[in-house]
Amino acid sequence: MRKKIAAGNWKMNTTFDGGKQLISEIIAGMAANPPEQTSEEMLVVLGTPFITLKKAANLVKNQPQIKIAAQNCYSEEKGAYTGEISVEMIKSTGAEFIIIGHSERREYFNESFEMLAKKVDLTLKYGLTPIFCCGEKLETREAGAHFDLVKRQVEGSLFHLNAEEISKVVIAYEPVWAIGTGVTASPAQAQEMHAFIRKTIADKYGKVLADNITILYGGSVGAKNAEELFSQPDVDGGLVGGASLKAEDFVTIINSFD
Ligand code: PEP
Repeated sequence: MRKKIAAGNWKMNTTFDGGKQLISEIIAGMAANPPEQTSEEMLVVLGTPFITLKKAANLVKNQPQIKIAAQNCYSEEKGAYTGEISVEMIKSTGAEFIIIGHSERREYFNESFEMLAKKVDLTLKYGLTPIFCCGEKLETREAGAHFDLVKRQVEGSLFHLNAEEISKVVIAYEPVWAIGTGVTASPAQAQEMHAFIRKTIADKYGKVLADNITILYGGSVGAKNAEELFSQPDVDGGLVGGASLKAEDFVTIINSFD
């Protein structure tokens, strides 16, 4: 059975103190309104800024359902890369997930398929879980090329992995036109692409493996639309930006699984 995940991507928001406060509010909100699922069935993942990772990991130490994610890592293991953060450094904070290939990284930092493949490899090498993002821009969808692009993104950065490795990857489908815009993909659009991604994986690695991969939807998920999106058969949860910064909304999203 694949795991459900409600993941937050805080992006470049929250100071150190603000991050501590937000985590405390989420923990309190979940205690007041506990999810129906166990931690075996569903995880909450908080993608905090680097400066917050260690504190965040400490704050959730006794919360088996909550894990911490970095939002990026560097594509080399160590060395003279001033200002970069390695997977080993992230691991040393207690974070267990790394968001890789977010569309903002692809767009503003020119991250290529090859670079993302290296980040995925390092993440797996250190025993952390990559949340690998893919998704098309509006013009690509309007040109009818969205399935082809998403297939190339998945193949280009993940298909060098063997079956054991790819089975540890979480995929997040995030149509760029829906990120931070308030325009959400319809549940049918999300389901269509998620089923396509799962089939793409099944064609290479087999149906059993593909059926066990967690595929998240991201793009203006909020307290009002999460339930309908998460009820789609191939949508296993969400990667949430803006709404993950409001504890009340995020706890509602956490409680939106069947
Ligand atoms: C994201 O940051 O990955 C995201 C989906 O943002 P938002 O939920 O704000 O659209």
